[in-house]
Amino acid sequence: METETTGKDILLGKTLEELRLVAEDCGMPGYASKQINGWLYNKHVTSISEMTNLSKTSRERLSQKYDVGCCEPVDVAEDKDGTRKYLFPARNGGFVETVFLPEGKRAAVCISSQVGCKMHCAFCLTGRGGFKSQLSAAEILNQLYSLPERDKLTNIVLMGQGEPLDNYDNVMRAYEILTGKDGFGFSPRRITLSTCGVLPKLKRLVAESEMNIAISLHSPFHEERMEIMPAERAFPINDVVAFLKTCEEFRDTYGVTERETSHQRKLSFEYVLLKGKNDTPKHISALKHLLKGLDCRMNVIPFHSYPGCLFQSPTQEEAMAFCQELERNGIRATMRRSRGKSISAACGMLAARRSKSAYQK
Ligand code: SAH
Repeated sequence: METETTGKDILLGKTLEELRLVAEDCGMPGYASKQINGWLYNKHVTSISEMTNLSKTSRERLSQKYDVGCCEPVDVAEDKDGTRKYLFPARNGGFVETVFLPEGKRAAVCISSQVGCKMHCAFCLTGRGGFKSQLSAAEILNQLYSLPERDKLTNIVLMGQGEPLDNYDNVMRAYEILTGKDGFGFSPRRITLSTCGVLPKLKRLVAESEMNIAISLHSPFHEERMEIMPAERAFPINDVVAFLKTCEEFRDTYGVTERETSHQRKLSFEYVLLKGKNDTPKHISALKHLLKGLDCRMNVIPFHSYPGCLFQSPTQEEAMAFCQELERNGIRATMRRSRGKSISAACGMLAARRSKSAYQK
């Protein structure tokens, strides 16, 4: 049960089935659950008082025990490239950031799954602050529900703060609502979850969802990956990739053109390029060996530096050259353009500082 500080249970994140129990609990007729469902997932109301096709008594009874559970962002910063970063308060304290990324006909939202993170990747600013709390399904959904650009969204990426597979149940509950026909009805193919590779949960994710999967790879070598991603100790990338190779849907059995148009979910790897660290020819040949036989794409992300960081960013040219080298070795690679740099919205920069200085352009 999700409760707010008011002690009331939260409606956002409940399935139609669960709303039936809510209606019953409040002595409302069975069909009221459909009405509540519509108010939530079609009309996106912010309060129970807006559910005007429920009787006044029903609304009153419902309000005694329940809240919609949505919450407006408390701050916004905009970059000149159109990227907007919103700050949402979390129910257990702290804030999470949600980034709106418009690009031509596409408009993606990058949402967070935790306040802070337990994974402690050496290059990531979020990890530095440590873990604070799990977001509830309602808090995950609210980042879309209360987003001013909600109706423009074409894609959702779970790549914000936190490790989504370390908050599996709440992330999956949010996914059910996002994709459910009684929920937001979003196509799973337009949702991508990014993970450092929490293997037991990744196995469940493949079995229990249809969303696209992105794995943060960052080094093909066990020792080196362990140094920059402590999660490698528990979930070695070799085991993660070996598992992915057992999945029929990720096998490289198509020609490139067929694969590009296939309706299967997509597998990608993220590779934060750390200058002089993970960008050598040795890395390229190990990556080629590692990913052989997988139908995947590599997203190369030039490291975004920040004050006091341990690594160096490659130049644009160096990152491009690395991508070309991957391509020459049979790995389809794209360089991820940095977005929202001036508002600290780029990957790994989501430190959720509330200080005004973080929002200066
Ligand atoms: N926990 C998830 C989501 C993390 S953020 C995961 O590990 O995939 C999304 C991506 O940004 C990850 O690939 C992460 O490694 C990367 N990232 C983190 N800090 C970065 C930085 N300073 N520069 C570039 N990319 C970074």
